[in-house]
Amino acid sequence: MNDPTSKPAPCAEAPPLLSVENLTVRYPLGRGLTGRPRMLTAVRDVSFTIGAGRTLGLVGESGSGKSSIGRAVLRLAPISEGRVVFDGQDVARFGRRTPPSFHRDVQVVFQDPLSSLNPRQTVATTLGQAMTRHRRLSPVERRRETEEWLDRVGLSAHHADRYPHELSGGQRQRVAIARALATRPRLIVCDEPVSALDVSTQSQVINLLKELQRDLQVSYLFIAHDLEVVRHMSDDIGVLYLGGLAESGPADRVHRTPAHPYTRTLLASTLLADPARQKSRSARRRALATDAELPSPLAPPPGCAFHPRCPRADDRCRVEQPRLLPLADTGVSAACHHSEPARSAAG
Ligand code: SF4
Repeated sequence: MNDPTSKPAPCAEAPPLLSVENLTVRYPLGRGLTGRPRMLTAVRDVSFTIGAGRTLGLVGESGSGKSSIGRAVLRLAPISEGRVVFDGQDVARFGRRTPPSFHRDVQVVFQDPLSSLNPRQTVATTLGQAMTRHRRLSPVERRRETEEWLDRVGLSAHHADRYPHELSGGQRQRVAIARALATRPRLIVCDEPVSALDVSTQSQVINLLKELQRDLQVSYLFIAHDLEVVRHMSDDIGVLYLGGLAESGPADRVHRTPAHPYTRTLLASTLLADPARQKSRSARRRALATDAELPSPLAPPPGCAFHPRCPRADDRCRVEQPRLLPLADTGVSAACHHSEPARSAAG
């Protein structure tokens, strides 16, 4: 029987809403001791697409480059190489003036709503500004729409006259989501939107985002460090390690049979509510023995960037960089010389 909540697969002929092609992001770091300019490569050669009404989750540790990708899509980080194409438009070609339609169509929800919301503005003012940036509305219409958006994100009309400090963390994030939706966007970059929330509020906000997607057909680029959270949210997943894609593919498949040792490590490091499953996952984490620090992106290891932490590393891994290659009949690609879909590590 068909699952009535499942989303249709994107039409093979429909072009993706967002296409990220061989993206590399570098940040200038000033001059080194020799006087030569130094650059930090935060993202290297990353490609993915997102269809209308779909979610791609990017997961990785802090410093993996996931937020830099989100910022490049938003035009807040340099696109040093490659392309970001939104709705057929190469966003690097916009030049200094971003078209108003892009600001309307592509929105963002950040991790910390307290710092992203103006503390001196009521919720009504914040939402009103977002919705009138691209449309003319009378005060009465603005108020009515404000209350409609608040209702949509699970808040009440009386929250319209509150200031951010008068709301809980979960309520503030609901306001941030309403603000993003108020321009009626087609894509929202969700940059760690639930990381600052407690576990029960996290699942409420995730369910809300999914519900809104079902109703409004908005697409998400969902960025988080927790593979369980990303799996619940996403149709497809990209696992990032030190700026590059270690693995990508359908969310369930990547979660159920992770092909890359780093994906298995990430999965083993997530916490589970069930103590028995958590115990077996903790044992697996010890077996993986990958508690070593993430190497500096300023001096990435030669060969496979994961080799200093990888329990399967051999001589080849230390000298030869693996390419991201598709695995037969899985829809998954992995950058590992020894990758094969592993038995379920989901615990
Ligand atoms: Fe580990 Fe080698 Fe695969 Fe890198 S290429 S993930 S070091 S087995």
